[in-house]
Amino acid sequence: MSDANETTDTTARSPLLARLPELRNGLADFYRDLHTHPELSFAETRTAEAIVERLQSLDLEVTTGLGGTGVVGVLANGDGPHILLRADFDALPVQERTGLPYASTTDGVMHACGHDMHVTCLLGALDLLTAGRAHWSGTITAVFQPAEEVGSGAQAMVDDGLFDKVGTPDVVLGQHVGPFPAGSVGCHPGPALAATDALKVTLYGKGAHGSRPEAAIDPVVMAASTVMRLQTVVSREIPGGDTAVVTVGALNAGTKDNVIPDTAELKLNIRTYTPEIRATVLAAVKRIINGEAAVAGATRTPDIEPIDTFPVLINDEHAVSRTVSAFRSHFGDDMVFDPGPATGSEDCGVFGTASGAPVCFWFFGGTDPDTYRTAAAAGTTARDIPSNHSPYFAPVIEPTLSTGVEAMTTAALTWLSTGK
Ligand code: ZN
Ligand code: ZN
Repeated sequence: MSDANETTDTTARSPLLARLPELRNGLADFYRDLHTHPELSFAETRTAEAIVERLQSLDLEVTTGLGGTGVVGVLANGDGPHILLRADFDALPVQERTGLPYASTTDGVMHACGHDMHVTCLLGALDLLTAGRAHWSGTITAVFQPAEEVGSGAQAMVDDGLFDKVGTPDVVLGQHVGPFPAGSVGCHPGPALAATDALKVTLYGKGAHGSRPEAAIDPVVMAASTVMRLQTVVSREIPGGDTAVVTVGALNAGTKDNVIPDTAELKLNIRTYTPEIRATVLAAVKRIINGEAAVAGATRTPDIEPIDTFPVLINDEHAVSRTVSAFRSHFGDDMVFDPGPATGSEDCGVFGTASGAPVCFWFFGGTDPDTYRTAAAAGTTARDIPSNHSPYFAPVIEPTLSTGVEAMTTAALTWLSTGK
């Protein structure tokens, strides 16, 4: 697309970004502190307090406790567009194994998705934008969101009156660190992150002594057949040009070798990009679960309960084109890529759906560029580069942090009035 008048002039941004080197050490300290003290979804009280302290020092108008632990900072700076900048801040129930000097000190909880980086980068961008407010006009709403990992934090903030309080934004901008070379930025227009449906399934058999299978309806065999047949949903029922993922992430049954249990439990995670494929996959999954139970002679229909659900994140084509063109002029064409649709999920799109504003959500790299290059040359990036949710996920602080701050600041300035 040629939108020459929307391409931000780099010289207009430079006075703001020139301050970044002085902020780097303080931001890195802040990041390490968050990384050491991760908090699970909706329990992010320490994190929220740290954010509030920073926002107040920047003179933003702060609202706390929105949607549980959510924090909103508003910077009104005259007439102009209203933009929403979003960072999520919850951690995961993962035992950290990075061995970093600033690794988590909370047993079994880790910032394994990099949300600590998102918070730090947004605070850095707000610092630059606040100090450089003479260079732009408009309103910035900074949304620090809890509980992204369980898919309900964004909705909780919306339900708690976020848009009644701040008004409707003209665009929603968000970013996520990922296993790409640090320094690079990636954005995909259209369906960019998958919808998720997580299901808990209970299969009912009939328990008996392990020596008397004739007296039992074995839920272990039922579970095994179900898991194997579920693998045919994507391979046999989805057109070759479409995508879906069906993963059975948990399978639990029984306690002892010589006892056939009464029940078995499965936990499924399903990823899709369109309502049609989602409906096809969910129907096939239910048909197979019920079918396998019937074939096994189960006396009771399985229970299929939703655990959590994320909508698909649709990146607005125009918003992406406008933002990515600014990224290209700032970072250079070779540092900006299209990662294609990701099978991960994100609830950032909820802010767009609820307000009617277009969404632009991008990735920025967190992997040491040399490490990435070596793995890419060997064709082993998927195996060798720890991804989000891995106990080894450890973004290099620089240039990851600076890239995230620059990307958020550049994107913000592209949408605010800069007098150009
Ligand atoms: Zn995550
Ligand atoms: Zn995440």
